[in-house]
Amino acid sequence: MTIIRKVDQVHPDPAVIKQAAAIIQNGGTVVFPTETVYGLGADATTDSSVLNIYKAKGRPADNPLIVHFSSICMMREYVQVSEDIEAVAGRIWPGPVTIIFQSTERISGFARASLRTVGCRVPANPVALALIDSAGVPIAAPSANLSTKPSIVSSAEAIEELDGRVDMILDAGDTFFGIESTVLKSSRKGYEILRPGAIGVEDLEPILGKIIVSEAARAASSVDKPLTPGMKYRHYSPGKTLYRIENREAFIATVLRDRRKDMAVICSDEVAAILGIECISLGSEDNLYEIARNLFPAFRKLDASAYRNGIIHGFPESGIGLAIMNRIRKASLPLL
Ligand code: AMP
Ligand code: MG
Repeated sequence: MTIIRKVDQVHPDPAVIKQAAAIIQNGGTVVFPTETVYGLGADATTDSSVLNIYKAKGRPADNPLIVHFSSICMMREYVQVSEDIEAVAGRIWPGPVTIIFQSTERISGFARASLRTVGCRVPANPVALALIDSAGVPIAAPSANLSTKPSIVSSAEAIEELDGRVDMILDAGDTFFGIESTVLKSSRKGYEILRPGAIGVEDLEPILGKIIVSEAARAASSVDKPLTPGMKYRHYSPGKTLYRIENREAFIATVLRDRRKDMAVICSDEVAAILGIECISLGSEDNLYEIARNLFPAFRKLDASAYRNGIIHGFPESGIGLAIMNRIRKASLPLL
């Protein structure tokens, strides 16, 4: 049975947090909000607890999880925080950035998919922080969606997808960014993006220096050698086939000329106004944060609709746009 309890995202009721923390301490799974997407969490230090996450999600065991800490101080107890990050940690966390560090044996090998390294983050969400603090252990948590499905950005989606599969769901409404954290790894040439996310390269470079963004991280080329184990898997996708035409003008021309009635059009409000047909809206292209927040729900709307397949256009790859394009490319097939 899944316990579902409403919780205020800014001022969480301590009694609800205590109940969720007890479930974590007893080896159970709790779905909780972060500022990016909902996470499916368990005690990161205990093998059997971490295995419950893979089981609930249907996630392949060689795709490591992100481990969440309530402070940098707590992080230091479990992993080797590098000196360069120590110096700027207060500017990075709490926040939607995950950095790969050498782990100690205190983090379950299953959370690391047997690697010696682990992805670490201090999330900027009062519910997440209170839960980790109250449980007294780091919480391993991938995105709360079933494996390959779009990430979950609202408690309504969490309840629909995970009721009956986890021990508790914290029902806290919508998440802030609606797209996952930026994953970074130190390399000889500087920090490298393993997965673009909610914080853009432009915002990280003043803190971390020049950041390497490979074609693989953009998902612009098919991946021969994945940068991170997660990269080799199909991700974030609707169940129906989604096509993409990255160029906005080519998209508009093609849709106006060739679209069949059974194809859903997923586009910005501005493009919808030009097309003059019914669309699944991503919001205004003047605000890429809005597009990011509407992206996964749009994939879910496509699946729930009567349409047979869908088509989506591209966005500028600046700021959060890099993450938007990474997710769109992973979820779709190029048409042009
Ligand atoms: P998710 O938790 O579903 O948002 O995905 C976590 C992402 O972090 C995946 O793309 C993983 O491959 C990546 N990740 C986590 N730990 C590591 C690690 N030790 N080395 C490389 N990538 C990692
Ligand atoms: Mg995920």
